[in-house]
Amino acid sequence: LLAGASLFLDFDGTLVDIAARPDAVRVGPRLASVLGRLARQLDGRMALVSGRPAREVASLVGLGAPLVAGSHGMEFLHPDGTLESAPRPPVLDQLREDWRRFAAGLAGVLVEDKPLGTALHYRLRPDAAEACHRLAAEAAQEHGLHLQTGKMMVELRAAGGDKGSAIRTLMQRPAMQGTHPVFLGDDDTDEPGLVVAEGLGGAGILVGAPRPTAARYILADPAAVLDWLEQELTL
Ligand SMILES: [Mg+2]
Repeated sequence: LLAGASLFLDFDGTLVDIAARPDAVRVGPRLASVLGRLARQLDGRMALVSGRPAREVASLVGLGAPLVAGSHGMEFLHPDGTLESAPRPPVLDQLREDWRRFAAGLAGVLVEDKPLGTALHYRLRPDAAEACHRLAAEAAQEHGLHLQTGKMMVELRAAGGDKGSAIRTLMQRPAMQGTHPVFLGDDDTDEPGLVVAEGLGGAGILVGAPRPTAARYILADPAAVLDWLEQELTL
């Protein structure tokens, strides 16, 4: 599948299992090794595409100089270390403080401050899901931010990009031109990327349980993704 392809990889839930807290994910040695070898094999035709800040993804995966689209396509970290970013909506500072006060009253709800967004994670407090979504929907209306749902989380972020636009942009890079995109992702936020990968003549691979999706292939979990990536390496 990767012959003549560019490979785009979501991170959380695709390469690593989702952890109770977003800062608790770990990249094991086998994954690190496979990603390093793939990056060399694909020679400029591999990128990580995440909702996390781009630099955070880069430090988590531990690759030398990765190409990363972060913050849902609103940031690009280039292999030379330069970061291209949309401006941070000023209202996020106030929102973060409001949400920290809200979370202080709901033990287990975590506020994640990102360069271009603010997220509420309720994995440790599932009964707070409705309250979190209501708060986020109200604030999205009030501040004109993009409401992004995900697994056990909701985020308000700068509008104007998604993982699909990220893949379109990255496909303009000289190394990727004329190739077809293969994208692996697990969450709602990955669906635009799966649509674009299929639309550009490539393939989407959904990670997780079957659900309505634009992806034509499916892998059960990050362990299956790692097996598949390793298999692609030896071809
Ligand atoms: Mg994911």
